[in-house]
Amino acid sequence: MQKIDPHTISIDKLSLPLLNKKKVEADVLRLDKIHPLISGNKWFKLRYYLEEAKKQKKKTIVTFGGAWSNHILATAAASHLNGFNCIGIIRGEEPATLSPTLIKAKELGMQLIFISREDYKTRNVPEKVCNEECYLIAEGGYGIKGAEGAATILDYCTKEKYTHICCAAGTGTMAAGLISEAVSSARIIVLSVLKNNMELADSIKKLLRKKEPSFQLLHDYHFGGYAKHNPALLNFMNEFYSATFIPTDFVYTGKLFYGVHDLITNEFFPSGSKLLIIHSGGLQGNDSLSKGTLIF
Ligand SMILES: *Cc1c(COP(=O)(O)O)cnc(C)c1O
Repeated sequence: MQKIDPHTISIDKLSLPLLNKKKVEADVLRLDKIHPLISGNKWFKLRYYLEEAKKQKKKTIVTFGGAWSNHILATAAASHLNGFNCIGIIRGEEPATLSPTLIKAKELGMQLIFISREDYKTRNVPEKVCNEECYLIAEGGYGIKGAEGAATILDYCTKEKYTHICCAAGTGTMAAGLISEAVSSARIIVLSVLKNNMELADSIKKLLRKKEPSFQLLHDYHFGGYAKHNPALLNFMNEFYSATFIPTDFVYTGKLFYGVHDLITNEFFPSGSKLLIIHSGGLQGNDSLSKGTLIF
């Protein structure tokens, strides 16, 4: 399988009439290019967990997720690359046909175990699954090591250049890493993709190294909730691709770019601002949309 290659990460400068008009500059950090399966922020979030598992001489990685989870696929691929066995605890009953995400994860050697939504909520892992050879990674890679890994995302840009760093958040692990690692003059703008996830601020704060972090959470761009979408979002993603040739996913980065575009339109960023927008990947999730919905 293809190895992780951080050299493929690029910084794309956006050139859109709106940016000129509002005198705002925006660069996109293209983590989506790093690997076709271990996309975007997931490799960064996983890297120190896998190192720790190796150090502890564990043989099997166990983690959690849904049928379309970027984290599940990335963990399957990263475990495969690093010579670990891998078990995915999947939310819900086993479906008659597996999602493309789960098919790929299985092909990479991940053993899939389906558990009921109730058991999933309490992370009630079947006992036979988890023995002393297993290393457990939380859903979405949430945790200190995940945030420490995500902090290394900023090694791939000149972080001093930017007044704002914008990212999408699910568990908030990536955001915590960025907040910890950013220079103090930069403000981190975090767009939650879950509806009314008012615990996000606390989840992020638990993972921070800094005493006086500078970040702002925005809860207005979830489009109805996690993995929900509407025609306005999908149209935006198509138009954004036409204008920039940057593909986005409808769960995270589509909402992020939509949100940032909206914020620029409404002069949220003072003129002269220099934004770094984190393209955190996730494009495989677009396979759940019907064919032809997106032009890329
Ligand atoms: C997982 C994921 C995120 C969210 O990362 P968290 O650390 O859970 O907040 C953002 N973007 C993409 C594309 C993802 O797959």
